[in-house]
Amino acid sequence: MKKVLVNEKVSPDALNILRKAAEVVYIPSGDHAEIIRMLKDITGIMLDTTIKFTGELMDSAPDLKVISRTGTGVDNVDVEAATQRGIMVLHTPDANTVTVAEHTVSMIGALTKHLLLLDKETREGKFKIARRYYLPVDLDGKTLGIIGYGRIGKQVAKKCLAAFNMKVIIYDPYISDDVVAPGVERYDSEEDVYRQADVLTIHVPLTDETKKHVGEKLLSLMKPSAYLINTARGNIIDEAYVIKMLDEERLKGAAFDVLTNEPPMDNEAFLANPKTIISPHTAALTHECTIRVACEAASGIVDYLEGRMPRSIFNRKGLGL
Ligand code: NAD
Repeated sequence: MKKVLVNEKVSPDALNILRKAAEVVYIPSGDHAEIIRMLKDITGIMLDTTIKFTGELMDSAPDLKVISRTGTGVDNVDVEAATQRGIMVLHTPDANTVTVAEHTVSMIGALTKHLLLLDKETREGKFKIARRYYLPVDLDGKTLGIIGYGRIGKQVAKKCLAAFNMKVIIYDPYISDDVVAPGVERYDSEEDVYRQADVLTIHVPLTDETKKHVGEKLLSLMKPSAYLINTARGNIIDEAYVIKMLDEERLKGAAFDVLTNEPPMDNEAFLANPKTIISPHTAALTHECTIRVACEAASGIVDYLEGRMPRSIFNRKGLGL
């Protein structure tokens, strides 16, 4: 039976799917040399974001045919190196959409209602001060700017229209007009979305084009009363510039689920800034979603092993499929 390497935290449901077609072996925690040893005779690997899967690691796995990412972004996999070696890279782009959208909307709520700060002040005995000096804002009628109107961007739009009655404006040069939902307004100018948004949320993939794209030039256009959310990828945003703007009162608050350095370094300014909310790349990590994503990632590997075409092949074009 072919061997598939998995993280030891993978759900039992996903393991049951894999075991129909493969012998499951576990990724050893931490030790690089041991990981290399384990790669020697594996056919497949199911990866989360914790390992950076480089060409060098692929060269230690001569029988490797399929890498399945439990998630949407595959930026921790060297896809070009995989394609050159004929290795199929799978991902699970649909399985976490709703979950990440829920986390984004929760961040919008927590940030604009100053929930973390109010909670802290109240616990510290500052009940009266907290009520008077940290006035949050209403979302009703405010403008939500969405950069990247793909799977998650669309769900965030839908939820914020329904839950908060926000005005939703989007920027995404790669979609056709017919995918834009009623009530959502498409802008051709990215700058105008930054200028007009009361809450701006980023949902683009990390690519050469988007890397550090959200920096001084765009951020400086934002209203001083605006809030910024990033649940896409840390490297898209210049975090240091966001903190500078918060310190200079040119931006009201920021929430990041994703960071340039994961985990962050001890001295990163946002860690000490009370106008930020940070979560440790957990937007997709709900109970239901982790099971859904793992099962879909496992099914992709089983499809490959049993000779069927997996549903979501990230490097389909590169492999000429
Ligand atoms: P998607 O591919 O469905 O949507 C991305 C959209 O961005 C597409 O419509 C594309 O046209 C658009 N886009 C690409 N480049 C753009 C640009 N320069 N300007 C404006 N729009 C651009 O992806 P998705 O599933 O919605 O995921 C969105 C992001 O969320 C990705 O970065 C993904 O890695 C991230 N993500 C994060 C988590 C998490 O745990 N925090 C989980 C899942 C996905």
